[in-house]
Amino acid sequence: MRGVKKIKSEKRFHGIPVAHGIAHFPALVHLAEEEEILPEVVSTENLPGEIGRFEAALIATRIELLEIQQKIASAIGAHDASIFDAHLLVVEDRTLIDEVLRSLERDHLCIEYIFQEVARKYCKTLEAIDDPYLRERVVDIEDVARRVIRHLLGKAPQNPAAQAQSHIIVAHNLTPSDTAQLDRKLVHGFVTEIGSKTSHTAIMARSLEIPAIVGMQGICQQIQIGDDILIDGYNGLLILNPSPATLAEYERLSREKEQVVERLRLIRETASTTRDGRHIVLSANIDLPDEMSDVAANGAEGVGLFRTEFLYLNRTTPPSEEEQFEHYRSAAEQALPHSVIIRTLDIGGDKVASSFETWEEENPFLGCRAIRFCLENPAIFKTQLRAILRAATINNIRIMYPMISGIEELRRANAILEECKQELAGKGIPFNPWIEVGIMIETPSAVLVADHLAREVRFFSIGTNDLIQYSIAVDRLNDRIAHLYNPTHPSILRMIKMVVESARARGIWTGICGEMASDIQLTPLLIGLGLEELSATSAMVPRVKKAVQSLDAGACGKMAAQALEADESAAILELSRSMALANYADLMD
Ligand code: PEP
Ligand code: MG
Repeated sequence: MRGVKKIKSEKRFHGIPVAHGIAHFPALVHLAEEEEILPEVVSTENLPGEIGRFEAALIATRIELLEIQQKIASAIGAHDASIFDAHLLVVEDRTLIDEVLRSLERDHLCIEYIFQEVARKYCKTLEAIDDPYLRERVVDIEDVARRVIRHLLGKAPQNPAAQAQSHIIVAHNLTPSDTAQLDRKLVHGFVTEIGSKTSHTAIMARSLEIPAIVGMQGICQQIQIGDDILIDGYNGLLILNPSPATLAEYERLSREKEQVVERLRLIRETASTTRDGRHIVLSANIDLPDEMSDVAANGAEGVGLFRTEFLYLNRTTPPSEEEQFEHYRSAAEQALPHSVIIRTLDIGGDKVASSFETWEEENPFLGCRAIRFCLENPAIFKTQLRAILRAATINNIRIMYPMISGIEELRRANAILEECKQELAGKGIPFNPWIEVGIMIETPSAVLVADHLAREVRFFSIGTNDLIQYSIAVDRLNDRIAHLYNPTHPSILRMIKMVVESARARGIWTGICGEMASDIQLTPLLIGLGLEELSATSAMVPRVKKAVQSLDAGACGKMAAQALEADESAAILELSRSMALANYADLMD
């Protein structure tokens, strides 16, 4: 029928919700990393067509890179944008291009297959040469090759400028480095095929306040670039071609959620004190320095966790002492009159920095991560410690070491800190010699020796994201076993209690900066277990504050005692959740 537009039918897909919110925009699909390209045979008469497609893909990739370079230059500066100079050289690399054309003539296989094979061979040869510069080029070539293949497969936007329009990303996976690069103005949400609630990618989505869904298997095959999609980050739902009725329903829901946010804005300046007068320090976690504005806007008492490793991602050289000093000083100034807890570099696990020599590990979360990496690389560690010590003359900065597993690591880290103080003093550079040092408690071994550790630090901050994965032996990134990743496992409660008691015995305080602190179902339990500080995702701070204000710490204590007797995670969750519902049902999703 002419003139009648075919109405596309609505389709729903389910995944794991990791960041709340609703977004309705066109989809931008990223090619799955491991998408297999089959070696399809090409006849002689079709060879010129393959060459034409190859040339078009190279041109499109070049335009894409130039656009990204321009965007980065205007957002962060020409220096960072120059990283893409090396990428641009790859699309013009005659040796690579000639080899592709020769292989095409010889093998008569489709150009995407040939290109992928040649690029892989090229990377392997460079990797084998013992030269850091050439190894760095491998990363560039891999990135450019992915882009060229995306164009050849028609998986990249026909018009690269489409990336400059508001969209929702649909991808096989997003690494924390990818997520750190997302343009907050244009990316309104993302959906991935793999992933979990406590991956750093999910944590970042919550900080950026964009709805996100993970674990939506096979979604890249179902959605095309430009498709009309709505994502519901509350229920983990992606709706393709939402009907007018669905859109109306979601508009109503968005208004309702907005009203809750409006009400919470009113308590921004109030204290997070329970009904019976116990003050709980409520601070915020930040991943990137520019999130400092969200900290105050959400009424947090400073920063309980500054994940500094994000300063090291997506660049070819680590940040200098001067650059770090500026970031830390600026964060501390913005946090006044409150404080900022700067966690030293926690690289490794799912956060891989291309600015360091890359290493492959079978079990990266059990490998050379966090404090282990820093103790093995004292020059990198010292650069950061000097920057923190210097910025700390403002007097509201504390240092926190990640992933401490025993007293030896703490002492070695403190010895290096002392060396840094001596060096600064020797050069007459101002610094704060009295800076408070604390540690994250995120390994079971640290819990068991918390009484020893408490003698040599000023505070503990429990990193439940890792503590849960290391205690229950459940990979925090693996969606297949996500149901086993259980914050209310009885063992976790016992550990939190042990840590709080060890700290109290030595007169130091205990906070929690894992994602449990942002979950208002668990606020009654955490207050009941005696935590003195909760450091939550900025966007969740107003809710947690309202939850704290609605609770009675005495009643929470009694409930926690009961929970400690329970032998099943579900029963413990139920105890805390019932108390939450009885006191602030309106805040719960
Ligand atoms: C944690 O492990 O709970 C934590 C806060 O650190 P991260 O999530 O950065 O590993
Ligand atoms: Mg951790």
